[in-house]
Amino acid sequence: MKVELLQHTSLTVCAKAIRTCWDSHDKSDCGGEKDLELIDRVGNKHKHASTLEHLSYTFYISGVSRALLQELARHRIASLSVKSTRYTLKELKDEKAFNTTLNVRVDFERAAKYIVLTKVDSVDRASINALENLRLILIDGIANDKAKYCLPESYKTELTWSINARSLQNFLSLRTSKSALWEIRDLANMVFDNLPSEHKYLFSDSLE
Ligand SMILES: Cc1cc2nc3c(=O)[nH]c(=O)nc-3n(C[C@H](O)[C@H](O)[C@H](O)COP(=O)(O)OP(=O)(O)OC[C@H]3O[C@@H](n4cnc5c(N)ncnc54)[C@H](O)[C@@H]3O)c2cc1C
Repeated sequence: MKVELLQHTSLTVCAKAIRTCWDSHDKSDCGGEKDLELIDRVGNKHKHASTLEHLSYTFYISGVSRALLQELARHRIASLSVKSTRYTLKELKDEKAFNTTLNVRVDFERAAKYIVLTKVDSVDRASINALENLRLILIDGIANDKAKYCLPESYKTELTWSINARSLQNFLSLRTSKSALWEIRDLANMVFDNLPSEHKYLFSDSLE
């Protein structure tokens, strides 16, 4: 899995939005540490959390499974643009077989380009079988629109994901928890790691 932060809003935008409420834009009170303290006090401690919605982050996320995607998509207060299997499944057509009959030889390394492996041998072999079945269906000339119905949940995808700071706090608190699926927990930790260092203090209480 890879996570790249593509863009983020400057903290000064959020601080300016907060100062709008009291019309207190006096320059001597603005900038640096004063902005950090203001955002934390109003947005977090005073629970005026809508002010945190002025901060947004856009990430490019790749190498995650569709199992993870369907959990990530449940977070409604975020925007996703996802690689379409309808348009991209042809990528499998140029591949050679991923396994031999009865799974005597299995090419885990090449399969890992397309599916997320779990390190549980029986699960990964079953996943590669599904991948190979899909490849054969595509070579048979079945349209992507129909072939996509036999994709394994482990099939890799990528997406651009935008989320504001308020919703990201909620996402991190739910998905860094030990009760979350391991893969989305890894993603949540990587998203936190990729935040601009000066923003991390807003999220440290959201981590489990
Ligand atoms: C450990 C774990 C197990 C889970 N298991 C399941 C499962 O078995 N089955 C399943 O279906 N889902 C499951 N989920 C998904 C979960 O139910 C949520 O859909 C998901 O975590 C998104 O959370 P959210 O609604 O807070 O986020 P968002 O959709 O981003 O919403 C953010 C916040 O906005 C507010 N909000 C958004 N929409 C509404 C609304 N319509 N009405 C009122 N307030 C709203 C809420 O305050 C919400 O917390 C699981 C999640 C976790 C973390």
